[in-house]
Amino acid sequence: MKLTLEASTQRFINKFKKSAKITEEASKYIPGGYSRASVKVGPHPIFVERGEGASLFTVDGHELRDFHNNFSVNVLGHRHPKILEAIEQACKDGFSFGNPTKYEAKLAKLICDRVESIDKVVFTCSATEACMASVNLARGYTGKGKIAKLEGGYHGSGNDFFWSIHPDPLLHSGLATNPKPVPDTMGMPEALRGNTIVMPQNDLATCKRILTQNAKDIAALILELQTAAGGLITLDKAFVEGLREITRDLGIVLIFDETITLRMATGGMQSVFGVKPDLTVMGKAIGGGLPIGGVGGSEAILYLNETGQVFHSGTHHGHSVCCAAGAACLENLTQPAIDRINGFGERIKSELSKFTQENNYPVNLAGWGSCIGFEMLDQVGRKIRSCRDIMTFCDNNTRQIFNYELIIRGYMPMWQRGQVALSTSLTEADIDGFIATSKSIMNEMFD
Ligand code: PMP
Repeated sequence: MKLTLEASTQRFINKFKKSAKITEEASKYIPGGYSRASVKVGPHPIFVERGEGASLFTVDGHELRDFHNNFSVNVLGHRHPKILEAIEQACKDGFSFGNPTKYEAKLAKLICDRVESIDKVVFTCSATEACMASVNLARGYTGKGKIAKLEGGYHGSGNDFFWSIHPDPLLHSGLATNPKPVPDTMGMPEALRGNTIVMPQNDLATCKRILTQNAKDIAALILELQTAAGGLITLDKAFVEGLREITRDLGIVLIFDETITLRMATGGMQSVFGVKPDLTVMGKAIGGGLPIGGVGGSEAILYLNETGQVFHSGTHHGHSVCCAAGAACLENLTQPAIDRINGFGERIKSELSKFTQENNYPVNLAGWGSCIGFEMLDQVGRKIRSCRDIMTFCDNNTRQIFNYELIIRGYMPMWQRGQVALSTSLTEADIDGFIATSKSIMNEMFD
């Protein structure tokens, strides 16, 4: 019998009744019951009691193997003993100071030693703030005001960036070769629309034309080498190399937002591409599970923070406990550990790609390394090269059924995105189980 959205939704509701009840109670005080829109899973989020290694334990009494890892944050899994030890030590020293601590410098050194393009780094409390700080630096450095971003790129919820993350080709977003910025939320100031220039993914000729036409105004181009929140698109290497050359020629600061992708190699995904940006935005894994963001890059640009010409400060910037946790995470995120989970990702991708092709199922596997995802298609054989293709050719209903069924059968994927981010706590047996479960769900969906 084919799985239906109604039946899968009902099974989810039956399994997570306590989470539903807590959501209802909390929504008396918090709009909708929680402060983070992206944690919604179907009708409500799943409330978690605790995490251990590769497992989540929900308030409903279920264990889920975690293939979500808080949108890639927990690259070592939950409660890694070395991170816990570092947090305990830092907490013993105190919680908050109007002074810097040794932990911040330790994390900064680890990052500078790992990522070739980073001479210096400053910290923030989130990657959203780090994105904002990065464009402030670029504006200060170039004396220009506008920024360029790619459609489908997510750079946090700052007003410069919340444009064209999901630019519906049917609504106001223009042609792919002449895209118009569309806000992804109400409340975006209309006056800012012209300040952010949007460009198509993986179309170098169009990007070159737009950047050249606007070069005298554009301070920075910010991009993700592999997008996540806007749908899973891995940029072509030649496209990124081309953008590097064009931005250098036009005096535009190139910013790679590696908030998610820094986990792909000790040198970040930029080392996999072999392309060096001027600035790199970081977040997620560099805090080891605690809140953090960072901007790193060339000495020449970061010097503006040192002189105070570009102001950079925040009550909790460089927070001792977050930096201690982040340093412990990076120390244990060695290249062999990364290679192992990248290998897990490649295995899931290649085995399930083979399976979907053999069975003629309308599913593509996408992504790279430890961050991969499912594209549920409207028909077999679609090639997905941009977020516009995702919006045009992907089927939200089948993705939702697939996600519900993974959760019902004991796995936690990233809900709205159909993606997974693996952790070093997972084992080969987890990957076997995930592949087998994915196959049986697809058989029940499509046969
Ligand atoms: N950039 C990217 C690429 C992200 O994925 C995110 C968060 N998902 C952000 C920036 C914003 O990070 P934060 O939620 O820490 O502000």
